[in-house]
Amino acid sequence: APERSTVLQIFRAAVEEVPDSTAIAYFDGRLSYREVDRLSDGIAAHLKSQGFGRGDRLAIVLQNIPQFVLALLGAWKAGGAVVPVNPMYRERELAHVLADSGAVALVCSERSWRQTVSAVVPGSGVRTVLTTCELDLQTRDDERVLGRVERCRDEAVPDLLEVARSTTDPVEDPGLTGDDLALISYTSGTSGVPKGATNTQANLAVNAAGLGGGTALPAHGTIFALAPLFHITGMVCQVVTAMDLGGTLALAYRFEPGVVLDALLEHRPAYMVGPSTAYMALSARPDVTRDHFASFALLYSGGAPLPPAVVEGFRERFGHYIRNGYGLTETSAGCVVVPSTLEAPIDPATGTMSIGVPIPGATVWILGEDGGELPFGEAGEIAVQGPMVVPGYWNRPEETDAALPGGRLLTGDIGFMDADGWVYVVDRKKDMINASGFKVWPREVEDVLYTHPAVREAAVVGVPDTYRGETVKAYVSLRPGTDPDPQELLAYCKERMAAYKYPREIEVLDELPKTVSGKILRRELRSQN
Ligand code: ATP
Repeated sequence: APERSTVLQIFRAAVEEVPDSTAIAYFDGRLSYREVDRLSDGIAAHLKSQGFGRGDRLAIVLQNIPQFVLALLGAWKAGGAVVPVNPMYRERELAHVLADSGAVALVCSERSWRQTVSAVVPGSGVRTVLTTCELDLQTRDDERVLGRVERCRDEAVPDLLEVARSTTDPVEDPGLTGDDLALISYTSGTSGVPKGATNTQANLAVNAAGLGGGTALPAHGTIFALAPLFHITGMVCQVVTAMDLGGTLALAYRFEPGVVLDALLEHRPAYMVGPSTAYMALSARPDVTRDHFASFALLYSGGAPLPPAVVEGFRERFGHYIRNGYGLTETSAGCVVVPSTLEAPIDPATGTMSIGVPIPGATVWILGEDGGELPFGEAGEIAVQGPMVVPGYWNRPEETDAALPGGRLLTGDIGFMDADGWVYVVDRKKDMINASGFKVWPREVEDVLYTHPAVREAAVVGVPDTYRGETVKAYVSLRPGTDPDPQELLAYCKERMAAYKYPREIEVLDELPKTVSGKILRRELRSQN
């Protein structure tokens, strides 16, 4: 079999095997593998002509549009690496990422260029800019997601697709190896300042088959991109996995529940991965039906806790079981995943659903406070080692040593393993609530709240308290058409949890604050107290 230790090798194998199959579908636009290959060659040739080469970084500031994948492959074909940037970043955040990563080239939409990027580029190290219009590879203008996109090209900046189409000669193979830098991925910032994790080509390539938990998936299916491509889950479980399957990557600009539902009927995907909050948002839509999910072979949730009540509710209504997957930016997406052939056990003591078993190549330890390994069933910090774990953080030797002593990643998550090897996440270490000396893990309280029929989303935080040090406070958003009495919600919790655990206060919000990758931001809720 041909080597598959870089994403480029995986992509080239698909181009050889299924050149005329659809690689990317975007509303009514389609690009075949052969076209993606040719267009990304054009971008690589242009970048090289601008002096971009081995090890250089291209920042991509785009939503889920085909040009993202073209630019990604273009940078790799030119021998460089990519810095995916959240297009919602304001000037201050973008300036930090460009300076920290030392990007010399950048791709963004015409709109972003006018709104933010053009103000930041002059003070950065970026020498080459290409812009693109979100409408260029589809003809059906969906105003619900694209807003009123008007072409607003700055004539001084070359157009990405024009550049891509201007060369027809294949570029010379850059000879990348598995050890070459593929991405600098800035962590989503749920808990602090974004640091750049350095995902290598091999880190991404080994995780291409991670969707399914290492169980081989039938080839050539369609993956619907529920997660943003600029986040590691979207990059690996969507872009790279679609290439690995020789399948189709279906894109819909960004997560907008009504648009996603239409796209599911149009593309009839077989696989999907996204945060549990995306599944909750889709199932809360009044127009959702069983037919929307009829084409799926597998649904995965990753990147955020998955409440068992959500899984059961989804199965009852739509006939599909959502599988859990756990990973970090530093593990290049999933490292502990529920195999596609199994269902995750639920821990009888806490009601927590397992995140799965380590995927092939990954080793997981549960460490006590002294750093020693704990026996089955005991909770401690989850540590991971394997070919999907990054070598470190970009230009941050101290943070690298602290998080990756001896190459073993300390995840900052507390969890345990049962005797059969199933792993459970209790919570993030830093989110523990200390109520009168009792440890309260917000997850457990949230999982109980999710079992209440009126609760759509829940987040639990510790708030300062004169007597107890901290007390438990819950924030919830409600399912449409429900209006429970807050006292009744409190009583519901009180009945199901020990006195130190149940929330003393429950506040109802229309929406809970979330990161772009769909994680509920407890930090932001905590700071409101
Ligand atoms: P930052 O590092 O900036 O705080 P972040 O930790 O959210 O951001 P990511 O790498 O996107 O950065 O997220 C990894 C974290 O997400 C894990 O450490 C874990 O806390 C959480 N997580 C991921 N998958 C799951 C899951 N299946 N169940 C519970 N938690 C999960």
